Amino acid sequence: MGKPTGFMEFERLSEAYEPVEQRLKHYKEFVQTLSDDDAKVQGARCMDCGIPFCNNGCPVNNIIPDWNDLVYKGNWKQALDVLHSTNNFPDFTGRICPAPCEAACTLGINAAPVGIKSIEHAIIDKGWEMGWVVPQPPKSKTGKKVAVVGSGPAGLAAAQQLARVGHDVTVFEKSDRLGGLLAYGIPDFKMEKTLVDRRVAQMEAEGVTFKTKVIVGDKSLPAGINNDAKEFVSAGELTAAFDAVILAAGSEVPRDLPVPGRELKGIYAALEFLIPQNKEVQQGKANPINVKGKHVIVIGGGDTGSDCVGTSNRHGAASVTQFELMPMPPEQEDKPMVWPYWPYKLRTSSSHDEGCTRDFAVATKGFVDDGKGNVKALKAVRLDWKDGKMTEVAGSEFELPCDNAFLAMGFTNPVGSLLDAFGVEKDARQSAKATTDGEGCYRTNVDKVFAAGDVRRGQSLVVWAIREGRQAAREVDAFLMGTTTLPR
Ligand SMILES: Cc1cc2nc3c(=O)[nH]c(=O)nc-3n(C[C@H](O)[C@H](O)[C@H](O)COP(=O)(O)OP(=O)(O)OC[C@H]3O[C@@H](n4cnc5c(N)ncnc54)[C@H](O)[C@@H]3O)c2cc1C
Ligand code: SF4
Repeated sequence: MGKPTGFMEFERLSEAYEPVEQRLKHYKEFVQTLSDDDAKVQGARCMDCGIPFCNNGCPVNNIIPDWNDLVYKGNWKQALDVLHSTNNFPDFTGRICPAPCEAACTLGINAAPVGIKSIEHAIIDKGWEMGWVVPQPPKSKTGKKVAVVGSGPAGLAAAQQLARVGHDVTVFEKSDRLGGLLAYGIPDFKMEKTLVDRRVAQMEAEGVTFKTKVIVGDKSLPAGINNDAKEFVSAGELTAAFDAVILAAGSEVPRDLPVPGRELKGIYAALEFLIPQNKEVQQGKANPINVKGKHVIVIGGGDTGSDCVGTSNRHGAASVTQFELMPMPPEQEDKPMVWPYWPYKLRTSSSHDEGCTRDFAVATKGFVDDGKGNVKALKAVRLDWKDGKMTEVAGSEFELPCDNAFLAMGFTNPVGSLLDAFGVEKDARQSAKATTDGEGCYRTNVDKVFAAGDVRRGQSLVVWAIREGRQAAREVDAFLMGTTTLPR
């Protein structure tokens, strides 16, 4: 424990954000990493709890008290090693993780929790700045070949772990660039894509082969799913050519809103707007959807919805409204009731702070045609929630001007035809069926085919995808070699 009295002496210090008026003019990251001194003060606040709930709250079980202490003492290199021992990509999570570790921090019971995420961010940024993040190629090769389908955080984490123990890993990706939703989905202002590129370069130096624009399993995709593929590899070809296959293909089918007028022009699934925006920022290809001067309504209150809000404001929308079906949560959680678990409370993102009217307990009833096939308004009704059940409030129907609506109500399941092509059994939610514990975990019903990340657990978080990729890699290594040294 760095400073026994630190938690009493020092306040939580949040990372600074570039002012709204300035950051709205660009798509670059705007969160400023803590200075070394400020990170040290944050580290000093950690109480090095006998039972570190933060470590359990973190899906990759980051060894948080240890790196807090190391940062407090100025041992940055060692802090980086501890951080990397549980997390392949703290550069991603240090920016976009919602930080369940902080919700679990003991200090948070009666004070502000330790700024764990900001310390993680500071450690990994220093690591890159100092040149400490280097490839770790294997000492010897096993001669075993592993295919990974999908280059999101699950696929990347699995590939890196497997390459480091000597397997020949090939990652297949249908998009024209690597990273999954990290690259195409999550806006550049939340995470710049050079962060993915430098990790890809590190992994190439560790022996991973990447094949972009290659779709595996089935060429036909439901509408609205990004596909830049120029080549196709069948499930049979892949399983014949590789000793093991990991499906890390995400959960890409968006939840639709089948209400009257859904077919009108101007209504899109969120990623139909966000992915072309990534392409515009990264490759200069203009986003065909431009909401400058438009009235935008975002339907759905999660991360995806919030990203549509931030992007619409950067376009210069005339107004941005976000609808949420559920009632407005309390601003402050009931700590004794929920700690150390993820609390139910109002979450206001940096995108909301940039300008957005948020409306809760509202259901969309339909869209109004302008007479030329374009949406011109949205019809909604207010909801009353009792005992988890909703009823429409009589006489509460209203109409709002709407030139563009973005549907951000989550993703229902992975593309079924990919799982069918491999013969992989599905669970009740239509995700790939595989357990996460015990004998044969992460293995599907199909010999040598494994599944990890959103394709298995349903839509989730980057940190869970990294965890699943790491754990699946361990199971694949054990399957191929009879034993494994990879951590769980
Ligand atoms: C807009 C948005 C914002 C989000 N923001 C956050 C956030 O702030 N913080 C957070 O923690 N999480 C966030 N998430 C969730 C997070 O991005 C996902 O949980 C995570 O990326 C899942 O990782 P994955 O590797 O399982 O799948 P993905 O990242 O979805 O990657 C799967 C990859 O597989 C490829 N693929 C699919 N099928 C095939 C095929 N047949 N052949 C070849 N390639 C294929 C896809 O093209 C894709 O690149 C967000 C999600 C969205 C949509
Ligand atoms: S729970 Fe909070 S105070 Fe305790 S070890 Fe973890 S970060 Fe430190």
